[in-house]
Amino acid sequence: MSGAKIFAFANQKGGVGKTTSCVNLAASLSYYQKRVLLLDMDPQGNATMGSGVNKLTLESSMNELLQGQVSIDAAIVANTPAGYDLVGTNSDLTEAEAALLKKTQQQYQLKTVLAAVRHRYDYIFIDCPPSLNMLTLNALVAADSVMIVMQCEYYALEGLTDLVGTVRQIQATCNADLQIGGIIRTMFDPRSRLCCDVSDQLIKHFPDKIFKTTIPRNVRLAEAPSHGLPVCLYDNSSKGAIAYLVLASEFDQRFSSKPATAENKACEEQNETTQQSEAVN
Ligand code: ATP
Ligand code: MG
Repeated sequence: MSGAKIFAFANQKGGVGKTTSCVNLAASLSYYQKRVLLLDMDPQGNATMGSGVNKLTLESSMNELLQGQVSIDAAIVANTPAGYDLVGTNSDLTEAEAALLKKTQQQYQLKTVLAAVRHRYDYIFIDCPPSLNMLTLNALVAADSVMIVMQCEYYALEGLTDLVGTVRQIQATCNADLQIGGIIRTMFDPRSRLCCDVSDQLIKHFPDKIFKTTIPRNVRLAEAPSHGLPVCLYDNSSKGAIAYLVLASEFDQRFSSKPATAENKACEEQNETTQQSEAVN
């Protein structure tokens, strides 16, 4: 495999923090100088607006891309405020879903169009809608890994079982290499007994998948999209911004051959060497 690793942010349960995690992880990885492309695969267009791009004035969007009416280069909005690239979406995407249903090989459309740009990025993120439809299926077929975003609450484990079942089905049919890349615990409250119990269950069943970093409930994270900014640009000292930066570092260490922290370390060592040689000279 060459080029970007592709992640689908998924959970058929709505409002769990998929889009917030996708946007803020993309922004944090861009801050670490990683080349990221974010694909908004949800007709709600929340990831588009949260990236600072107006979904109502897109020149071309995921809809035209999936229908083969524009090239991926024409669909990409380069350099959003946080530095990553975006293929934006709006409610027109439901048109593409209907059109795909009439095509053969319909589930491979996104995978096919991504092949042309994969080599340009470190990571490609796909923000999925809260349902298992043709759009989500396209995302899961194009992806190397599923990033599961969840809130540690009563029904979460049931939802996770369904999602793991979906991943197994896709592995058996149209994407044998699909992995569960990681589980992000969001809106995490360590003072809540229920939250800790659910979290313990997750750690027990998925010890290698769960990210150590948790994302707290933080009002800045909820406010940032209304300003069209990822949280690290809206309020970089907020708990939410810091949590996503730490998560991005853990994510990059897990998935990159050149992790951001190692790069930072290499930079520090380089600086030390320069300072030492300056002191000697
Ligand atoms: P959907 O299923 O509709 O696509 P989603 O899973 O993408 O939803 P988000 O849109 O990311 O979920 O989040 C749902 C709501 O919760 C949003 O209003 C968002 O601003 C808020 N939210 C997400 N994460 C946090 C957090 N850590 N702290 C506070 N609010 C949050
Ligand atoms: Mg969403």
